[in-house]
Amino acid sequence: MTDPTVRTLGSELTILDVVQETADAVSIVFDTQIPYTPGQFLTLRVPSERTEFVARCYSLASSPVTDIHPKVTVKRTRDGYASNWLCDNVKPGSVLRVLPPSGTFGPASFEHDLVLFAGGSGVTPVISILKSALESSDSRVAVFYANRDRESIIFDAELTGLQERYRGRIVVEHWLESERGIPTDDDLRQFATAYTNRHAYICGPGPFMAAVESALQDLGVGHVHVERFASLTGDPFTLAPAAAPSGRASTVSVELDGEQHSLTWPAESTLIDVLLNAGIDAPYSCREGECGSCACTLKSGTVEPGDGTALTENDLDDGYILACQATPTSEHLEVEF
Ligand SMILES: Cc1cc2nc3c(=O)[nH]c(=O)nc-3n(C[C@H](O)[C@H](O)[C@H](O)COP(=O)(O)OP(=O)(O)OC[C@H]3O[C@@H](n4cnc5c(N)ncnc54)[C@H](O)[C@@H]3O)c2cc1C
Repeated sequence: MTDPTVRTLGSELTILDVVQETADAVSIVFDTQIPYTPGQFLTLRVPSERTEFVARCYSLASSPVTDIHPKVTVKRTRDGYASNWLCDNVKPGSVLRVLPPSGTFGPASFEHDLVLFAGGSGVTPVISILKSALESSDSRVAVFYANRDRESIIFDAELTGLQERYRGRIVVEHWLESERGIPTDDDLRQFATAYTNRHAYICGPGPFMAAVESALQDLGVGHVHVERFASLTGDPFTLAPAAAPSGRASTVSVELDGEQHSLTWPAESTLIDVLLNAGIDAPYSCREGECGSCACTLKSGTVEPGDGTALTENDLDDGYILACQATPTSEHLEVEF
């Protein structure tokens, strides 16, 4: 039975259109307009007869600059659950529960030229960044896009259209494994060598991303951003009511979107649960420490940081914590988002 004190997060969005992009990928267009930045993703709640729901993230393949409606593109994962359910079941008029856009993969501004690397469905955040950069700035963009074969290229026609429209500012190299095998470090170095001063963005299967990262490291490329696709295992849609402080509780002052909030932070609660239960619109997505959406800076006080994997050693040294993992260990704390 559903616990009436448990809140369900996110909102129900109606699907406007479903587009078959390739034999195993569909785009889902939502009948809404929402603010987001290029490279961000939505988290979808996918029904299941076995577990009631599973949560999965899908990057927005639409651009907030060029497209009216937000769109995600889902590629079937072999033996996967949610991707196949979405490809088989969603239709115009279907309704899905969705968390707000999240993620920090894309550029904060388009003042730099870009070099983008996509493998398979990893093209989704990449095409959003590409379209946004071309339309809203004068920056130049080079794209390396690896696929199994010509039939599996998602957005093939759209990329051709962009090449015609923004001639001189865009280079697209299609790499087809059926013709040239899997791209090696050397192949990737050869492509990237003309773009070492650009900011790099990489999204694709693990081995592809590792090869690109290694090639860019060899070339001394300074600004490299990666987006890793993985399935969530928890349920970020469910928010249990705030635990009444059973013992020690701290006070925390939180700065978010220019506003200050003063809150009680029970020792056993995570900061994100405290904020969401207080009705504060804090950024979050997986609530498992994996996506980094709720990263914030600890300005004063101390926390038990928890088990998250989203932050690098450098992030931790810079004072970042994950609001979905951290619990307080000092009496007073100050946090800034
Ligand atoms: C930031 C981010 C962005 C992403 N963007 C994209 C994107 O743009 N496009 C894209 O295609 N993918 C994207 N992904 C990957 C996507 O979130 C999923 O990981 C992917 O679709 C595979 O999910 P799946 O459920 O099909 O496969 P799996 O996760 O491999 O499915 C197997 C899992 O489902 C469970 N399961 C099996 N049957 C059931 C059942 N009946 N009920 C409940 N559970 C079951 C199994 O126990 C197992 O844990 C992104 C991931 C991240 C983190």
